[in-house]
This record gives sequence, structure tokens and C-alpha cells, in this order.
Amino acid sequence: MQSIASHNLKIYNSLSGKKEEFKTVANDHVGMYVCGPTVYSYVHLGNLRTFTSFDVIYRYLTHLGFKVRYVRNITDVGHLENDEDMGEDRISKKARIENLEPMEVVQKYTYDFHETIRKFNLLPPSIEPTATGHIIDQIDLIKKIIDKGIAYEVNGSVYFDVHKYNNSYNYGVLSNRNLEDLVHNTRSLDGQDDKKNPQDFALWKKADEKHIMKWDSPWSKGFPGWHIECTAMSNKYLGDLFDIHGGGIDLKFPHHECEIAQSNVCFGTNAAKYWVHANMLTLNGSKMSKSTNNNILPDEIFSSGSSLLSKTFSESSVKFFMLQAHYRSILDLSEEALKASEKGYNKIMDAISILEKFKDFSEDTDFDVIEWRKNCYEAMDDDFNTPILIANIFEAAKFINKINQSKAGISKEDWEVLNNSLNSFIFDIMGLQKQNLLNNENSKIDDVMEVILRLRDEARKNKDYILGDKIRDMLKNKGISINDSDKDSSFIID
Ligand code: AMP
Ligand code: ZN
Repeated sequence: MQSIASHNLKIYNSLSGKKEEFKTVANDHVGMYVCGPTVYSYVHLGNLRTFTSFDVIYRYLTHLGFKVRYVRNITDVGHLENDEDMGEDRISKKARIENLEPMEVVQKYTYDFHETIRKFNLLPPSIEPTATGHIIDQIDLIKKIIDKGIAYEVNGSVYFDVHKYNNSYNYGVLSNRNLEDLVHNTRSLDGQDDKKNPQDFALWKKADEKHIMKWDSPWSKGFPGWHIECTAMSNKYLGDLFDIHGGGIDLKFPHHECEIAQSNVCFGTNAAKYWVHANMLTLNGSKMSKSTNNNILPDEIFSSGSSLLSKTFSESSVKFFMLQAHYRSILDLSEEALKASEKGYNKIMDAISILEKFKDFSEDTDFDVIEWRKNCYEAMDDDFNTPILIANIFEAAKFINKINQSKAGISKEDWEVLNNSLNSFIFDIMGLQKQNLLNNENSKIDDVMEVILRLRDEARKNKDYILGDKIRDMLKNKGISINDSDKDSSFIID
């Protein structure tokens, strides 16, 4: 067990644009809110990268001894098709197109999200609130903002008055924008006539006749704006000022900027002390995205159903690939890069297996295990630097291969430290999966099958059909079918 006091944890805060020492609001308690998925379609690997980044942060803080309350919401209403409060609600639109109840859409994709998170071994949050479950809380906040004179009602909709807010606060503090530039750069779009200024954002939208998801409110039958949801849910479960607010970097503006504005008006705080943003996973150099279809879904990784991938990859290879980049760097996904990560991850798994079984201890150790562990912690304490942690793990793997070949020695005491630390960094902190040791076993089975199949091919070439058929039948009895349609035969495990 680590002690919080022995670590000098630094976190990059988007609010200050600097790495800062992590000082919590309340001693050893941490409140962390992460914007969850909008459940109108399957989560893709880009979404998963962001959730993985925060999973590692959650795991590491817990590992250090913090008591973390991790809140990650489900956005099941209010996220419109674009950021200017325009277009249809994404969930309503999907419900209309698929002829489903909106809650059927929500249920289907929430279920998929949970399945994916479970497969990839991400920990569930402490609380997972839904936006539709907090309509009353959102209405209360909107009333508060109107009472303070920073929001106005027009034709049943309510808008946040960004210009009025900016008289007392700084709109753009998070994304480094200033209102004058925003005014200069934003156009008024059709359908925004109700707003005093195009920069204002919706807190409540009046629903038209056709709109399926709507609730009573003092202003109209309608639905909440996207930004007010997160303010309502984070405040309800974490209070007026909590420690970490996270999400993908694409949420910095306008979503998080608007959350900060709402929170300043309602509670006099920026909501969170540390605003943390995970960078994007790209595909072919462009952001992976649901709406542009430039994405790969987790299932396509397992079944190689994507035109980009000719082979399948395990969850841990994909996660290892993600964690080999720092969470604040852009990362481009390609088959080449996934293959390299798979190879690297298998090397580490092999080293872990060797170390676990190792018994041939020496008096001394030819590797400074304590210094090595310190370096690993320093990497994580430096804004959760998983690529440097992984580089250190590769160093340890190199050493393990040396002791395996009797080119170096390790004492029993150091073996214990190395074995425990490796397990805790790889499985507890990065959340990679041990069962991938089985995948290694699987790849050995593949190798053995390859030998059997090639021997059978040879027998058939030599017209020894009796032996060829015997091998086929024996494998069939074990639930393995041979496919003879290709030039070289292949096999399927039934
Ligand atoms: P959404 O479901 O679109 O609301 O997104 C859920 C989370 O995934 C948010 O934190 C987004 O910032 C994040 N996200 C969306 N696209 C990507 C991407 N290509 N790479 C990394 N994170 C992403
Ligand atoms: Zn949010």
C-alpha cells in the first residue's frame, strides 16, 4: 500500500495550462467527474481511449490511497447534432429513424457501452447518473441562473447570456478564447433568432410538436441543454467545488467552458480545481468520430470486421497501444501500430510468466529494483505518464530475460519487490488483463496447429489420404474442423 504523503503527484490542469501539484479539496478524498457517452450509437475506440485514460487516473489515485468518488454520467438527452444548439437531439433522431422509443435507443447503447467497458476491464464509476433522471435538478439550476439575471427566456426557451456573464467573469478562461474574438468569428445561424447573441447557449429548449422527449418546466414543455446536465449531476454528487473534471479535449469548448460559466453563476466556483483533457484517437489522421463514420468499433477489433484490419487483436493489446502514448498526445491508430503493441505486450507477458516461475535465486541482484520502482512511480506521479512507465517495464523485462538465461542474478527479496510491483503496475494500475497470458497460450496452440496442418498437407500431397483423413477425423473429434478450400488448409475451433 502506498502512502499519499510519499508521492508528489502533478497533474496538467487545462485551466492554468500548467502541470500543478495535486492538492485535494478535502484531505484524502477525491471527487472526479468525467463526461460519459451520448448513448445514440455504439462507442468507438476513440471514446474508449478517453475512458481508458480516466480509468488509469482513477486506478492510480485509488492505488495511492485516495478515497475516490468517481462520477461518470450517461448523456441520454439534450446533446444536439451540433454545438450551436442547432439540429435534432441525437437520441430523438435515432429513435425516429429506427422507429424506437427513445429509451429503447438509450438502453441499447448503454448496454453496449457497459459491455465494452467490462470487456476492456475498465472499472465502473462510483455513480453513473443519467441526464433524464436529473431534469428537476437542471430546472432548479436554470431558475437560479435566471434569478441572478444571467439567463433570459424567449418563446419558451431559456438561454445563458454570455455577454452579461462576461461583465463579471471571464468567458473563455478554459479554452483561452476571448468574447470579442468569438463575436468576430461566429455567424448567426438560421434557427437561432431567439438568442440575443449567437454566443449565448441554451439552458432549456422548447420542444416542437414532433419532438418525442419533453418534460414540463416553468417555461415550456421541452428539454434541457447539454451543458446544464453535467453541472447539475456533478454538483449533486460532488458538491460546489470538487477535484477533477475530465473528458475528451473536444469537449473543452463549448461544453466545459459553458459548465464553468454555469457553475460560477450558481456556486461561485469553476466547478473543479483540475480540468483534465484526454487527447483524441485518430484514424487516417482524422479524429475518430461517430457522426463522420471515421471510426472502428471494439467488436471490429475482435472479429477483424473492419476494412482497416486484416487480423484480430486482444483487448489488452489495444489498451497497451493506447497507454504507450501519453493521454495528452494525439494517437493515430493503424494495423502496424497495433501489431507492434501486441508484440510488445506479449514480450511483457512472457517476462511476467518467467518471473512468476523463477526459483533460482542468488545472493545479490544485478538490477537496482528499488530505484526501478521509484522511476516507475515518478513516471505516474508526473501527470500519469504511462509511456515512461511502460519503457521502465520493458527495462525490467530485459533483465528478466537475462536471469532466465543465467546471464544475471536476483535475490529472493528483490524478486518479491519486482514481481509484486510489476503485477501492480500492469494489472492494477493500467488495468491490463492477465488472461492475455492465455492468449499467449492460444498463439502457441496456433503454432502447434500450423505444424499439424502442414504435416497433413504433406501427407495429402504424397497421396497418403488415409493419414490425411485420420488427422482430420481425430481433430474433428476434439471439436476442431479443417478447412481444405484454401491452397493451404486452415482450421476452425467449433
Ligand atoms: P460522446 O459520446 O460523443 O459524448 O463522447 C464520449 C467521450 O469520448 C467524450 O469524452 C469525448 O470527448 C470522447 N471522444 C470522442 N471522440 C474521441 C476520439 N476520437 N478520441 C478520444 N476521445 C474521444
Ligand atoms: Zn459533460
